[in-house]
Amino acid sequence: MTDLKSMYPAELEEYFLSIGEPKYRAGQVFARLSAGDTDFSVMTALPSALRTRLSENCVIARAEIASRLVSKIDGTIKYLFSFSDGEKIESVLMRYKYGNTVCISTQAGCRMGCSFCASPLNGFRRNLTAGEMLEQVMAVMRDTGEKVTGIVLMGIGEPLDNYDNVLRFLRLVNDPAGLNISHRHISLSTCGLVDKIDALSREKLQITLSVSLHAPCDEIRRRIMPVAKIYPFDSLMAACRRYTSATNRRISYEYALMSGVNDSDRDAHLLGRLLAGQLCHVNLIPVNEVKERGYKKSTRERVNGFAGILESYRINTTVRRRLGGDINASCGQLRAEHTEE
Ligand code: SAH
Repeated sequence: MTDLKSMYPAELEEYFLSIGEPKYRAGQVFARLSAGDTDFSVMTALPSALRTRLSENCVIARAEIASRLVSKIDGTIKYLFSFSDGEKIESVLMRYKYGNTVCISTQAGCRMGCSFCASPLNGFRRNLTAGEMLEQVMAVMRDTGEKVTGIVLMGIGEPLDNYDNVLRFLRLVNDPAGLNISHRHISLSTCGLVDKIDALSREKLQITLSVSLHAPCDEIRRRIMPVAKIYPFDSLMAACRRYTSATNRRISYEYALMSGVNDSDRDAHLLGRLLAGQLCHVNLIPVNEVKERGYKKSTRERVNGFAGILESYRINTTVRRRLGGDINASCGQLRAEHTEE
């Protein structure tokens, strides 16, 4: 079956020419796919014989809502979506003053094995296609009837472990005839796959790169993130410096504060010295306590103390505001609950 929603407009043109249809069918279909149609029967601009033929030979990724939780505090909506093969992933709609942002998953499961994260709990199942990533945004728009202006690739999975599909998604979502979401409003988060960060810097995209650092040195990082055993700390920091010089974009470092693990004054000073003078931003996140993991979040005083030390190195630091706290909105948890059964 041909996966139309993952195809670039030029590939759609080739496809329609190859089945003996005029090239302009590509534009018609791309417009309907981008409007969120997931069924050929509603594409009434196409002749009915063609609609039948397409439904016999092609698929359109569709995400069914398996579960939906709405936060009473801030209106955040967490979705558990199910694809046609039964794989389930999570997406989250976050409402900010400046617009709606959707957090999408890039894989069903994850291979990275970070010790504090819920995503690897039920193993790795498969990569998502570009169409399935687009579909998460579209399914949220269909469900709410609202516009989405920003996307973060911070759901389940490691985006750079699904590099080709993620790049395809980034190009498709930015297409003026498609969802037309600006790369400046897209963030991609990685646990630090050095060779892929280098590949991404060569693409020269205007997206924001977030790097999940979570430690100020190799010793601590190796304990909580197996990926650090493959890509040592220094090699990751060197790749980040290459990324900023190639793209002129500031990197955002994610740092989940875990009580007694990575939140001491010494850790803050190490991090401060490491990042002083870099074009970057540090996002401190009191760790979200996943029951299977056993980490405790740092106290508010510890978080503020840690932030204060970083600021003394003139590092731009924020403490992440937690949305959807009442619905376990952080990714991986809902899927974990649903695969246990
Ligand atoms: N694989 C990518 C993107 C997915 S996770 C990555 O590692 O960056 C999005 C962010 O949530 C990452 O920074 C991740 O480290 C963080 N995260 C995972 N589990 C968490 C938890 N229990 N509490 C706080 N942050 C967590």
